[in-house]
Amino acid sequence: MREWFSRTHVQKHQLITPTLHYWVSAQSLHFHKMTAQALFFLLLLLFSFSANSFHGDEDPTIRTMEQFSGYPIHDSHSSIPNSVYSLSVDAQSLQKQIDELSTFSDTPAPSVTRVLYTEKDVLGRRYVKNLMGLAGLSVREDAVGNIFGRWDGHEPELAAVATGSHIDAIPYSGKYDGVVGVLGAIEAINVLKRAGFKPRRSLEVILFTSEEPTRFGISCLGSRLLSGSENLVKALETTTDGQNISFVDAARSAGYAKDEVDLSSVFLKKGTYSAFVELHIEQGPILEEEGISVGIVTAIAAPASLKVEFEGNGGHAGTVLMPNRNDAGLAAAELGLAVEKHVLESGSIDTVGTAGILELHPGAINSIPSKSHMEIDTRDIDEERRNLVIEKIHQSAIGIAKTRGVKLSEFNIINQDPPALSAEPVIKAMETATRELNLTSKLMISRAYHDSLFMARISPMGMIFIPCYKGYSHKPEEFSSIQDISNGVKVLALTLAKLSLQQ
Ligand SMILES: [Zn+2]
Repeated sequence: MREWFSRTHVQKHQLITPTLHYWVSAQSLHFHKMTAQALFFLLLLLFSFSANSFHGDEDPTIRTMEQFSGYPIHDSHSSIPNSVYSLSVDAQSLQKQIDELSTFSDTPAPSVTRVLYTEKDVLGRRYVKNLMGLAGLSVREDAVGNIFGRWDGHEPELAAVATGSHIDAIPYSGKYDGVVGVLGAIEAINVLKRAGFKPRRSLEVILFTSEEPTRFGISCLGSRLLSGSENLVKALETTTDGQNISFVDAARSAGYAKDEVDLSSVFLKKGTYSAFVELHIEQGPILEEEGISVGIVTAIAAPASLKVEFEGNGGHAGTVLMPNRNDAGLAAAELGLAVEKHVLESGSIDTVGTAGILELHPGAINSIPSKSHMEIDTRDIDEERRNLVIEKIHQSAIGIAKTRGVKLSEFNIINQDPPALSAEPVIKAMETATRELNLTSKLMISRAYHDSLFMARISPMGMIFIPCYKGYSHKPEEFSSIQDISNGVKVLALTLAKLSLQQ
């Protein structure tokens, strides 16, 4: 598996287009024979070739199907040049849109803070819906605010091909995470429209609600619901934010969850989409370091989160002597080290664990912590290996509580999502598109999770990564060049085109 993931492709465009090939042989014919008759035949041939290419075919759909699929529908058409190389991204407009969307933020530039269902989130959504409309997409929203922009194919009854990402941003983050996969997807549609492409399967751009867990502590809320999570529907009935505003009230304030809404109405049937592709910044340094244009994601590591609480007697920091203590803070500290130990024991570089939250009560310098609260994140691309780490952490927590004489008052697995593998046909479409666009690419795994993790439950999935500056993400320094973004958009456009033509 490791080799599979680290294999690097430096792909070169090696084909001479049929037109060029034909032209070269025509030139040599011209120089060898140099007769008026040959020249006449040549002109005649050239004329009939171009007439056939651009005017002679009564069915424009078949012509574009050939151009975009990269293989001929009819043998007689095999000489039609592949027009993919003319795919043009309006980089200036796209950069302008990314910049404009970043101004809908609750913190000053260059940071972006856009939290679910806040005023800025609603404005950002409006901005995206407007762009979808301008791209000629028909827009629909579901009860939690997942937004769908659809371009009907000429066989709209077939399962559509979808793409998309999120626009919510954690406090003081950057303007590219998620946004590139939403605005870039709309631009990919524009690219295909400008190139005269006619999709067979419909294409849909999705803006997912709340990929970030900022407000309600639930990551990938929108895509989790789309993938049919009954547990989430139940949980959302009682979920509140830090201000004690319920999820449903917050959704209503943003214009969603109207009336007595059943959130399971959001679920999508398996088979709604024939494929889902997400364009995203890498959020890691590999592509930039290796000078590679595109990462083709083969698997997404999945997180599990744990909540742990220890309780002790507390007491005065001066008067309670060391042998008489049961320090809940030290129990947590010890568990933090145990997390690191168990993760390292797995022996795999793909296993990671982080104790990112540690709160002590009462939190005074002269008081022994009577209570500690920890939240632990652990991930892997191998579910079994990750779950073994969780089990070891649990055993350690029990053991630590015992030896320190504290109570393990909570050990809760908040979520334990399975990792996702990209679908072979989607990987193939992404690889072919990248090769045909003469871009370098690398197969890689995503160590961050994305909406694609959940879309994989209901659709064959794939992800396209583009480089980002030093791998920075979730901070204002997050940056991807418009050249890299445009490359990603081209690969996405061509991948969507190919997938939309598949049987
Ligand atoms: Zn993201």
